[in-house]
Amino acid sequence: MTRFFLHNDGVTVPEQAPSNAVDVLIIGAGPSGAAAAIHAARRGFSVLLTDQASFPRDKTCGDGLTPRAITQLRALGIDVTSRYHNQGLKLHGFGGSQTVPWPNSSFGQVGSAMPRREFDQLLFDAAQRLPEVAVRCGVAARTPNFRGGRLDSVTFADGHTVRAKFVLVADGVRSTFGKTLGRTWHRGEVYGIAARSYCDTARHDEPWIHSHLELRDPEGGIQPGYGWIFPLGNGQANVGCGALSTESRPARINTKKLLHHYAATCGDGWDFGTPQQVTSALLPMGGAVSNVAGPNWMMIGDAAACVNPLNGEGIDYGMETAALAVEHLDEHKDLTLVWPHTLRQHYGEAFLLARTAARLLTYPQFLPLTGPLALRGRLGQAIMPAAARLMGNLVTQEDTDLVARAWRSAGAAMQRFRGSRPLWDA
Ligand SMILES: Cc1cc2nc3c(=O)[nH]c(=O)nc-3n(C[C@H](O)[C@H](O)[C@H](O)COP(=O)(O)OP(=O)(O)OC[C@H]3O[C@@H](n4cnc5c(N)ncnc54)[C@H](O)[C@@H]3O)c2cc1C
Repeated sequence: MTRFFLHNDGVTVPEQAPSNAVDVLIIGAGPSGAAAAIHAARRGFSVLLTDQASFPRDKTCGDGLTPRAITQLRALGIDVTSRYHNQGLKLHGFGGSQTVPWPNSSFGQVGSAMPRREFDQLLFDAAQRLPEVAVRCGVAARTPNFRGGRLDSVTFADGHTVRAKFVLVADGVRSTFGKTLGRTWHRGEVYGIAARSYCDTARHDEPWIHSHLELRDPEGGIQPGYGWIFPLGNGQANVGCGALSTESRPARINTKKLLHHYAATCGDGWDFGTPQQVTSALLPMGGAVSNVAGPNWMMIGDAAACVNPLNGEGIDYGMETAALAVEHLDEHKDLTLVWPHTLRQHYGEAFLLARTAARLLTYPQFLPLTGPLALRGRLGQAIMPAAARLMGNLVTQEDTDLVARAWRSAGAAMQRFRGSRPLWDA
């Protein structure tokens, strides 16, 4: 039976006949899956990129693209900055404000933002234009079939089975297919709960993203999180709020209700009308999952909880892990231990530090004590550029400045201190 899917431009076209055998089968066609398809095609592999949804599809997100994400997009040959770009972050709260331009790191100093409905379609289109890539949408991957310990094939909800040499699991935060492979989320680690909306605003093209670190509920209580305004350059801003939580200190808030309150109290000429398309989601973060690989399969992006615990960004890590995973595709390699090791090498120190700092934020006393110091006066001016750079993990192995070296040393020390329980363990 021929399946159909709808293009961005409203044209309905027949989907390519699903292949029965490919080199690389990708489950999930969000930024991680689509980026993986492009990288795998460039290496000459035949690829089947699949998604349970039909594109275009929405995804609950802040839509923010940091310089780290822009770097990955450039490597994929995709430009989003010509429509809208930003120069950095303005932080507000506790009676103060700080302006923090994107740091002068190897990622460059340009960020952007684009509604995920458009952004994901852009990547999906770039992937499906490649002759090596076939796509299959609107059907969920359901059952893994093993032969000799290897993942031999995957059966979809419509009964169709596809054999593959390698499988990349990019099925997002809930990772329904990943769970059938044993993916386990460690709920004891810090995680995020967040809601986003779209709001009309005359300030839609201002070149700064805004974060309010003093996030108050309608009763006046401070919540352990932040509100954000990410202008989109299309007449709207993505407006949202998120809170950090742990099993022992769960954030007891209704994020959607908090979002309405936040949007109504933003002031500063934003003049948001009623927030539209309000959605919320959970965010496992900082590698807090295990069983992320087998002999010939790997999890990437949100499926591997590759989300920065301090700011909730994961689009960049999704595309980075896609590129890294494709480098490992080799029939003579057993990926079961290689992949978690690779993730730890690239993100272990930074995520461990960020998770530890994020855990501090879940203590109700922490923000009211430190917020005024960070956001007011000279001390704030001195520390916030470095703090914002570290929050965004805009530090690479190649950066040799003092802040980068201090961050890496702290990460290594933390890794030794907590060394017995690595992230992404089997
Ligand atoms: C409220 C909120 C705000 C955020 N803000 C930002 C931000 O501003 N910037 C940023 O960088 N990150 C942000 N993030 C994180 C970001 O959204 C994710 O890190 C990113 O979407 C990860 O991409 P992915 O491709 O791994 O997963 P996804 O984008 O979730 O894609 C997964 C895909 O897999 C498909 N799928 C699922 N199950 C199956 C199955 N069984 N078979 C086939 N297909 C399947 C889904 O339909 C989906 O299309 C935010 C997250 C939340 C919740």
